[in-house]
Amino acid sequence: MEYVTLNNGVKMPLEGFGVFQVPDPIQCEKAVRDAIDVGYRLIDTAAAYMNERAVGAAIAKCGIPRKDLFITTKLWVQDASYEGAKRAIQTSLDNLGLDYLDLYLIHQPVKDYMGAWRAMEEAYRDGKLRAIGVSNFHAARLLDFCESVEVKPAVDQVELHPFFHQKETLKTMSDYGVIPQAWGPFAEGQFGIFTNPILTEIGRTHGKTAAQVALSWNIQRGVVVIPKSVHRDRMEQNFDIWDFSLTKEEMAQIDALDMGHSSIVDHSNPEFIKMLHSLKIHP
Ligand code: NDP
Repeated sequence: MEYVTLNNGVKMPLEGFGVFQVPDPIQCEKAVRDAIDVGYRLIDTAAAYMNERAVGAAIAKCGIPRKDLFITTKLWVQDASYEGAKRAIQTSLDNLGLDYLDLYLIHQPVKDYMGAWRAMEEAYRDGKLRAIGVSNFHAARLLDFCESVEVKPAVDQVELHPFFHQKETLKTMSDYGVIPQAWGPFAEGQFGIFTNPILTEIGRTHGKTAAQVALSWNIQRGVVVIPKSVHRDRMEQNFDIWDFSLTKEEMAQIDALDMGHSSIVDHSNPEFIKMLHSLKIHP
């Protein structure tokens, strides 16, 4: 496993394991235990995934020293305020059974995320959070945020896959020393990604699958990936990407797949923002 160094010196694995849409506690605990067994050390959850307890159970039983794991969770919109974030950080720690988190992210750029950030800065200084960052912050909002806060975000987790490249947001991240992390590195399975002719053909020349090519492409452009699968054989496949690299020509072929927009989420759509506000994770 290779690592990237965040803006505060903390080292983060370049590949992790995501657990979005794994709400069943038994399935989630098994998936995380399998993933750790396969070799993943970064686990990406969120308060809103409703599976922090199952992730915590897997961490407790996995036998890997805590310091060798990198655990990320995220602040949900409902708790995006100074007081709300203080409570939410402690709730996530309790749910996960941990006394510190490696990375804590503002999940969505809505509600009082500046107030939340102040609480996160405090928890960071207290050692409860080793690094703090944001998610779904696109270029303009990320720039404004970086210009406004004391502790700069270490990571911005955004949708990044062969059909959505987000070059402008990546440029802003690079300008401010923010490490990009790809959610939905397989576009959540859309657009026939696993059988895409270009990815499949590139993979064939390396003895790899389209999925492995998609992950390697992001890593080669400096993007951390956190693929999700509940199937152990796919976890293994997705982790077996460290013995090949794509040529410049192959990278350029994938560049041509960019649609320039997401078909999963749209932060400029008022209905989507309304939905984020309406999704409650506790009373
Ligand atoms: P992904 O792009 O990782 O795609 C997951 C899908 O691909 C699942 O249906 C999975 O099926 C399938 N899959 C995985 N590997 C393979 C393979 N090798 N061959 C064929 N199919 C495969 O989607 P996610 O949305 O899960 O994104 C990854 C992680 O990013 C999330 O789990 C979460 O941690 C994070 N995330 C963060 C968001 C944010 O707003 N910050 C938003 C969305 C995700 P199966 O499980 O059945 O194998």
